[in-house]
Amino acid sequence: MNHTSQPPSATCTSCATTQRLSLIIHNVRYLAHNRHFCTNCLLKNHHGLFCPICFQVYNDSPPPHQRLMCLRCPSIAHRSCALPFSTTTANAGSVPVFLCPTCADHKFSYFNISAADRISRTVDDKSFKVLAAASQIAADSMNKGAAAARFEAERRAVEAAVARKRAKEAMEELASIQAKEEEENSCCVVDLNLDARLNVTEE
Ligand SMILES: [Zn+2]
Ligand SMILES: [Zn+2]
Ligand SMILES: [Zn+2]
Repeated sequence: MNHTSQPPSATCTSCATTQRLSLIIHNVRYLAHNRHFCTNCLLKNHHGLFCPICFQVYNDSPPPHQRLMCLRCPSIAHRSCALPFSTTTANAGSVPVFLCPTCADHKFSYFNISAADRISRTVDDKSFKVLAAASQIAADSMNKGAAAARFEAERRAVEAAVARKRAKEAMEELASIQAKEEEENSCCVVDLNLDARLNVTEE
């Protein structure tokens, strides 16, 4: 991780916090665009890629019997991590009901750095895990994005060639229409009154 390479003025696309306030703004490839996300917004926009309790980033999501999915969002937690935070409802049998931290509390923030920590630039254990998860998700997205970007560039080159061809055809068509119109106009030049009348009715 090389955070010093980030421009100091980087701002979160989602919540507009600045690098100075959040410590870190990540470059992310999100929905086919390069975005800047603060740690909190990055995690909130990538539910399902990490456990919201222990902050392990999944290579593959845990097998069904080892995971609990949030009732309201795509977040997936390790069953063992989520059980202490889940409730079992009688009517749903013994299936534990889990709400991820953000769905349980809308004001929840994954990454809170106290003013004192911000000044001393220290990060506690939990915040460090959060930061590491966010950085890994950002890095993964950029790697995937790089492959997608190459594909996109090739696709655009093909599209550009097609567009140029279409534009050329359209120009040729326009030229031939203009030539025809000029030809027709030159036939009608003698009847100025007719032209004038046509213009009136057209308006
Ligand atoms: Zn943000
Ligand atoms: Zn976990
Ligand atoms: Zn949730």
